[in-house]
Amino acid sequence: MQRVDLQSYRVLTGKNLEAAVSAGAREIVLADGAVLTPTARDIIRRAGLTIVGNHASGASVQSPRNGSSPQATRPPQPASSPAPQKSARSDEAILNSPEATVIKQEMIRVGKKLWDRQYVDGNGGNITYRITPERVICTPTLLSKADLTLEDFCLVDLEGNQLAGKGKRTSEVYLHLQVYKTVPEARAAVHAHPPHATAYAISGRVPPNCVIPEQDVFVGSVAISPYETPGTREFAKTIVPYVKDHNTILLSNHGIICWADTVTHAEWYVEVVDTYCRTLMLAAQLGNGITRIPPEKQAVLLEIKKRLGLPDAKFGLAECQLCDQPESPGGITVCPTACPHNRPGGCGNKNQDAETLIKTITDEVMAALEARAASLP
Ligand SMILES: [Zn+2]
Repeated sequence: MQRVDLQSYRVLTGKNLEAAVSAGAREIVLADGAVLTPTARDIIRRAGLTIVGNHASGASVQSPRNGSSPQATRPPQPASSPAPQKSARSDEAILNSPEATVIKQEMIRVGKKLWDRQYVDGNGGNITYRITPERVICTPTLLSKADLTLEDFCLVDLEGNQLAGKGKRTSEVYLHLQVYKTVPEARAAVHAHPPHATAYAISGRVPPNCVIPEQDVFVGSVAISPYETPGTREFAKTIVPYVKDHNTILLSNHGIICWADTVTHAEWYVEVVDTYCRTLMLAAQLGNGITRIPPEKQAVLLEIKKRLGLPDAKFGLAECQLCDQPESPGGITVCPTACPHNRPGGCGNKNQDAETLIKTITDEVMAALEARAASLP
């Protein structure tokens, strides 16, 4: 096991990690408080590197595999320290760390894109990023997403308590925190009011799937959560039943929430779903119906999606269940009650097909045996 010591770095970039991997590193030793950029984290995940040591930015810290204690690689720690003061300092340090600065710059860019594309208006919409397992950077209340600056962001815990930052955290942060509490892999969330997706949300309809591959692969089946007053904890709870299986949820009479591994990707989902809803509306005006992707081809798209590690409530379903009925009110697909071959449960239900076949053969064999027995003297 090749161990590379990177304790001299305060900030580790993708370049540092690539150099360590090329040198054959399997374990890397980090200094206390060292900060990893998102690219560096990606390389650690991709290369399966073990991190040894402690740092404040929330990367997983594992014990070295040779059995020695991780503490052995750390500088000596003070026996005790005044906890509240240390916590206050470290929260400020997290919000102002180089890693947080990179994230805040990304959030500023995403805020401008949301505003430029008219997905937010007034002070609407909000963006968050989970920088450590228990700490979330969020946009402030009462500020246009087009006007964000590095000084505006706040840091909150998973209960919504503001820990650092000059701006006051948005009340809609509860919605984002519910995403993080329910979906451990979610790192970023964007809430916006894109007009076409919101039009679906106010009409209580979810867009059908099996129409455009990009929507099916990156967003997939969209859920719709019941209405509650925005900014309340009750409102946040409305997404719980859907958020594990859907990275995009329509919020009734309100807007949408998308989560992803990065802020940029969460904004992409906003773009994909709003463009999709707009395209469906335009197609509806042509008055010729919608051509659907055949279920067997939809199964191929789901396989691609699985390989990309994206969630979808349709994993494991039979082919006949993969495509929603157009504009179905609940968005839930049901198999036809009888398929053209009269197989119970629909054409794609292979288990049912096999059971039916076995029963038919068994019945015929038993009938033949009984007929033969009856004909014997
Ligand atoms: Zn809103």
